[in-house]
Amino acid sequence: MTSAAKEIIVDKTSDPPADRPDEPTSGSVDVEFAIERCSSCAIPVALQSPTIQSPASSWLCRRCGSVYFARAQEREGQPYTTGVRPVSYFEVMKAINVHVEGRTDPSLQRDVQRLVQCLAIKTFVGTDVRRQRRFPVAAPVTIIPLGRDLRVAGQPARVMTINLSSGGLAFAHRRRLTEPFLAVDFGACGIEILPAVLQVTRVRSLASAFEIAGKFLCRIMQ
Ligand SMILES: [Zn+2]
Repeated sequence: MTSAAKEIIVDKTSDPPADRPDEPTSGSVDVEFAIERCSSCAIPVALQSPTIQSPASSWLCRRCGSVYFARAQEREGQPYTTGVRPVSYFEVMKAINVHVEGRTDPSLQRDVQRLVQCLAIKTFVGTDVRRQRRFPVAAPVTIIPLGRDLRVAGQPARVMTINLSSGGLAFAHRRRLTEPFLAVDFGACGIEILPAVLQVTRVRSLASAFEIAGKFLCRIMQ
C-alpha cells in the first residue's frame, strides 16, 4: 500500500437512520453546490460539485483523509482548491478494497456488451437522462456511497444492475441506501469505462432487497 492509500479514510460510522421513507430521494439535493468545509473534520476546503462538462476527480482532505469526488473551484478563471489535494482514483479504490477484476463470466457477456453500448459510446445528456431508453441488464458493478457533499461516506458494495440507459441505471441491493449520491465503478464487468457519479432518484422495496435507481451526473476522471 502506498503512502497515499494509507491516508485515505472511509467513514464507517455514517449509516443513516433506517426509518426514512422509500421514495423519492430526488429533489432533496441541489446538484450545483460549493463544498466549503470538510464534513468530517471541518477544515475549510474549496471544491465544487462536478458537471458533465467539468467531471469529477478524486480529492483527499489534507487533515482527515476523507475522499471527495468533486472538482476544483475556480477563481479568476483558474482552478482553486484549499485543504485538499488531488489523489489517484486507483489509490482510492485500493484503499477502500475495491478490486478491479479483469475477467467476466461468459454468461454476462451479452449484458456487458449492452452496458458498453449504453455507456461507452453515448455521452451523458443532462437532467432528463432517465427518459433515455432503458435496457434490462444484469451486470456486476461496484457502488460507493457518497454524502451530499460527495464525500465517500460508506463501504463499497458489489451489486447487480437491473436496467440501464445512457443516462442512468438501477440496481438491486440488500441494504437500503439513503446516501444521495453514489460512485459507480464498472471494473467488475471487466470493461474499461470511466466510473461515474450517480444521483440517487429512487429507492424502492423489493421482496427481499431494494431497487435503487439514479441518474448519471458525470464521469470520474482517473
Ligand atoms: Zn477532513
